This record gives sequence, structure tokens and C-alpha cells, in this order.
Amino acid sequence: MAGQRVRTRFAPSPTGYLHVGGLRTALYNYLFAKRMNGDFVIRIEDTDQSRKVEDAEKNLISTFEWAGIIADESPMHGGNYGPYVQSQRLSIYRDYCTRLLEDKNAYYCFSTSEELEENRQLQLKQGLQPKYNRKWLPEEMGGNMPESEIKKKLDEGVPYVVRMKVPDYVSVWFEDMIRGPIEFDSATIDDQVLMKSDGFPTYHFASVIDDHLMEFTHIIRGEEWLPSMPKHLLLYEFFGWEPPKFAHLPLLLNPDRSKLSKRQGDVAVEDYMRKGYSNEAIVNFVALLGWNEGEGSEQEVFSMEELISKFSLERVGKAGAVFNVEKLSWLEKQY
Ligand code: GLU
Repeated sequence: MAGQRVRTRFAPSPTGYLHVGGLRTALYNYLFAKRMNGDFVIRIEDTDQSRKVEDAEKNLISTFEWAGIIADESPMHGGNYGPYVQSQRLSIYRDYCTRLLEDKNAYYCFSTSEELEENRQLQLKQGLQPKYNRKWLPEEMGGNMPESEIKKKLDEGVPYVVRMKVPDYVSVWFEDMIRGPIEFDSATIDDQVLMKSDGFPTYHFASVIDDHLMEFTHIIRGEEWLPSMPKHLLLYEFFGWEPPKFAHLPLLLNPDRSKLSKRQGDVAVEDYMRKGYSNEAIVNFVALLGWNEGEGSEQEVFSMEELISKFSLERVGKAGAVFNVEKLSWLEKQY
């Protein structure tokens, strides 16, 4: 990775409006890349077709344009590829899935949703954290299912998912750029579904493959993705790929320090646009949700250029950032 051009991405799922937390994630990725003279890319993660919302992608892109967060490698810049759209890349994920199956790092699973639910209830009753019971783990991979049974189901065309096989490692470890070293016990990691029965990959699978193929050097995203890290790191290991660097951003909080929610105010960027807030004020406000310039700095009003020249991940805190609308109103008056 040393000497490599910095590349970051924002990877929204087109499921509706852009949340202020999403704008912050996109902005930090943009500022970080631009500060390092690198590239910022948008990737639309639309592999969950049931959650896809018509026009969401178009609205996201126009909100970013309004905010001045312009992706490289996008039609807006005269590029002829991008934003990347995962539903247009299905054959890529399928090929990598075949590789995992061949390498015996993944297996076919024919368990029905009723069976999975039954298993889940049973484990909960036993006080265990629910995990797939590996009914379909092949004998040759250390499970109980004979190869002939698996072949029979495949020949019959019974729908299946593909699951990763979590190895019996002691621990999975990485160093987060904001939180420092984090370790996970592999006993707690589930055999994650990689390919769904509709032939689409899950978020976990598609995002790791794309992050590697698109050569991102830094993944900056919300803290809610931290628990997914062990699955992602295992996938990097299966493929023999060097993982990028990761930074997980602190939660956004309501003034009462509960998790930012619609119940206590607007959370969609579009709501604030509609209320007439300027792009400068919103970008400035969002930039300060978790980042500060450093001890002794009194400056609160920053232009995009200033943010680019000053932004660093070292100055992003671990603690949740309070979303205070009064601050936004104050900032609005400064422009
Ligand atoms: N599609 C995911 C989301 O909606 C992206 C998570 C990530 O950045 O890896 O937040």
C-alpha cells in the first residue's frame, strides 16, 4: 500500500433519502481523499433488490452535487464509468463465489427459512448467540453432510445460498484508524451468507470484492459496520488480498445522547435543504460532527477548501457526536 494513490469511496444503498450521517461519511471520505490528492468514488450498493427505492440513486447524486462533493470517475466529471452500480457487476461476484467454493472456504446451504428460525429459537433458549448450525457443511469440510446429498439438491434445482466457512482461528485482529487495535473471537462469527438465493451477493461479499478490485486504500464508514469487520477480514484472507485501512466513525447522537433518530428531529439532508439551509452551512455543520481542528483552535466557520486543507482522521473522536440543530442555525447566519 505504501506510495499508493489514496482512494476512498462512499457506498450508499439506494433505499431512500440521504441521512445526515451518510452525508458526513461521504464528506469525510471526500475530504480525506482530496487532502491526500487522491480519488473519491461513489458506489451504489443495490444488491438488496427488495429495499431498492426508485429515484434514490438520482437524488443521492444530486444532493452530493449540491453539497459540492463531486466524485472522481463519474459522468459529472466527464468520466465514462461510475458511479459504480453493484447490480451491474453480478458476474464478477459469481466468479469470486465459485473460487471460494472451489477453495472450500464456502459451501452451499439448502436450509429453509423455517429451519433457520427453529434453530435460532433453540439457540436463544439455550442462552447462545444464534449462529447457523452448519447442517449443510460438507463432510469433506469437517461437517456432516455427504457430498452426494449436496449434489442431489443441486441437480434437483433446489434454491440455495452460499455461506462462508468461518475457520477455527483463535482471533481476528485489525487496527482501526480511529479506535486503535480491535480483536474478535472467531467463535462468535457466524457462517455469513455470501450469495443469496436470488443470485445476488450480500452486502458483505460484494463490498469486500469491490473495495479490493476498485483499489480503495482507506474505508471510512459508520461505526455500525464495526461488527462486520471479522467477516470482511476473513474474506480478504480467503482471497489472499491485503485489506485496506479502516476508520469507523462515531455515532451521531440526539442532544439527550440517545442515538440520532427521526423521532427527535429531521435526519434527512433533503429536509434541511427544503428548509432553506445553504450547502456551505450544512457541509460546515456536518464536518464538525466528530471532527475538530485541534486544541486551541477557535475557528468554527470553514469553507470546503479550508476543510480539505485541514481535515485529518487523527482529529476524529471516538465518542458519539451530538447533532445540535442550533449550531446549524448559527452557522447559517455566518454565510
Ligand atoms: N451500503 C452500506 C451502507 O448503506 C455501506 C457500508 C460500507 O461503507 O461499507 O451504509
